[in-house]
Amino acid sequence: MSEVKLEDIVSLCKRRGFIYPGSDIYGGEAGLYDFGPYGVELLNNLKRSWWRANVYDKDNYVGLDSAMFKHPKVWEASGHVGGFNDPLAECKNCHHRIRVDKELGAISVTADEKMSEEEINRLFDENRAHIKCPVCGHKDFTDVKGFNLLVKSNLGDFTGTGERPVYLPGEACQGIYLNFKNVVDTTPSKIPFGIAQIGKAFRNEISPRNFLFRTREFEQADTQYFVKPHENKEAYDRIKQDRWNWYLSIGIQEKNLRWHQHENLVFYASDAWDIEYDYPTLGFDELEGIHDRTDYDLSQHMKFSGVDLQYQDPATNEKYIPWILETSVGLGRMFLAVISDAYYVENIGEGQTRTVLKLKPELAPVKVAVSPLLKNKPELVAKAREVYDMLKKEFGAVMWDDNGNIGKRYRRQDEIGTPYCVVIDFDSLEGETKDTVTVRNRDTTEQVRMPVAELTDYIAK
Ligand SMILES: [Zn+2]
Repeated sequence: MSEVKLEDIVSLCKRRGFIYPGSDIYGGEAGLYDFGPYGVELLNNLKRSWWRANVYDKDNYVGLDSAMFKHPKVWEASGHVGGFNDPLAECKNCHHRIRVDKELGAISVTADEKMSEEEINRLFDENRAHIKCPVCGHKDFTDVKGFNLLVKSNLGDFTGTGERPVYLPGEACQGIYLNFKNVVDTTPSKIPFGIAQIGKAFRNEISPRNFLFRTREFEQADTQYFVKPHENKEAYDRIKQDRWNWYLSIGIQEKNLRWHQHENLVFYASDAWDIEYDYPTLGFDELEGIHDRTDYDLSQHMKFSGVDLQYQDPATNEKYIPWILETSVGLGRMFLAVISDAYYVENIGEGQTRTVLKLKPELAPVKVAVSPLLKNKPELVAKAREVYDMLKKEFGAVMWDDNGNIGKRYRRQDEIGTPYCVVIDFDSLEGETKDTVTVRNRDTTEQVRMPVAELTDYIAK
């Protein structure tokens, strides 16, 4: 990424109503963010685009929205209760806790989240001489202990014993596995087929950081594609290409994407790739994971639930546990990538710059802004209202903007990413130019004059 800094993106997001720090008036709450009026529009547009690509544009995918809370055994079967740990060590001098895998990574020692506590402790011991407390500089740490990331709740616990913790989802996709049999039994879906879901997930991150990149509450967009055992390779390659192309289709520049293949695979996985994005300040890091998971997930749920989750091929009567190809992306990361990729600071002469979000029009939170040139001239305001009402009926996300002078309004709309600004001036009211307006293009800043009657078609194209 060029000279754009993460703090520029954070600042724009707050200033223009995209993202607010969670519980802001109480001083904030770590790792939580609220989507403001323009943030929720962009987020919803992203979800719609993702859903269209992964459900409507496919002929063998269906959607799902499962309950967040699930039977406690789900998280035992998934491995989240036993594993799913962040390896932590505490500075014996100041009690600051470090993520040992991150500290090892910083000195080029790979400590994977799937390693056992013993393995990580061994690596830590070998490298203790090179790891300093970032707060006080001491090198004396406790041993590494795994800290479980699952968030507990007291749902259904009316006695307060905490004996049967009902967890918030550590990942959203488990609901898809739980409903595999339901979908097969109640829809025409036949293997190979996919299930798509957008759902929330929660992680007790010890150090949430980097804005939307690592948060304690987030949303995930997942697809799970069920195939016959060993018939995974071709579908996996196709799904990988498909997901890459989708990012290009929503306007991400290809130079800011790259593939990363996992070196340390979990024992059941056959292959795992990430699509990485070149985030401002952070550099290349994970955006979406695309994993070839064999029959692990359904086998685990079969074992823990005692229910037969085998698929019976309707043509051959052959029975098997399907293999799963998964795609999973955090919507916060997707949002951060899209907004960073669209962010430009342009020279507009005379030492002036403008900041503009060159979002694809279909993703833009506001499609068109309508302004009367002056807000204290009733005849201008009345005409502008007419145009506003007409466009709002057509496009929905239309903004009335009469705040400040025209220059300020353009600046604001550029930063929100509004593709068109329509201005009603005195020429719109009389003479040869009666019933015409000026339309300003966000990307070129050029203005054209056109009849109100042509406006809807012009903006729609
Ligand atoms: Zn310390």
